[in-house]
Amino acid sequence: MGMRIGYGFDSHAFKAGVPLVIGGLKIEHSEGLAGHSDGDVLLHAITDALLGAVSAGDIGTFFPPSDPRWKGASSDIFLQTALEEIATAGYKIVNIDTVLVMMRPKIVPIAGEMRESVANLLGVSPRDVGIKAKTPEGLNQDGVAVAYATVLLESIAAPEQLGRMTATVEDEDEMDAVVESLVGNGRDTSALGRKVTPFDTDDLT
Ligand code: MG
Repeated sequence: MGMRIGYGFDSHAFKAGVPLVIGGLKIEHSEGLAGHSDGDVLLHAITDALLGAVSAGDIGTFFPPSDPRWKGASSDIFLQTALEEIATAGYKIVNIDTVLVMMRPKIVPIAGEMRESVANLLGVSPRDVGIKAKTPEGLNQDGVAVAYATVLLESIAAPEQLGRMTATVEDEDEMDAVVESLVGNGRDTSALGRKVTPFDTDDLT
């Protein structure tokens, strides 16, 4: 079974006067997260993990902060694009694990709801989504929200599906054609790395 792993990171500073959205969940708080988009630090880290797993660049590759179309955009748009990229590459999510680091608000009381929200956006079961919260002890970053995400993907063409197929072949050439039609289509990795452009490291999304 073909599997791939992806890893993502993001950080945003807290800012008064903007709504707080983390994991697609609107949270009651005195400050939100500054950013060109809605500043959803968790969805940005997950988006980067998904894109990284299929070597498709990062969030800045697809949504440069210089583009006014993404000003105030819902980060769900970024996530859905990453999901399309992994599907195009022939993969689906096995599970995802994340860590949120922020002094406040406290995430633990809303972690269950946030997990449901992220699972819903990803189209997976909540049991395949991990959300852990830490406070930034000793890091002197109380005004910042940080997110880390790891994702595991598996090939959509599962070996057991291929194993159930039968074919009658007359000679070796025909066998080659059958194998290519089964394996070649299901495990097409030609899309990996497509659309990769020089990274914009000044990621404000
Ligand atoms: Mg970001």
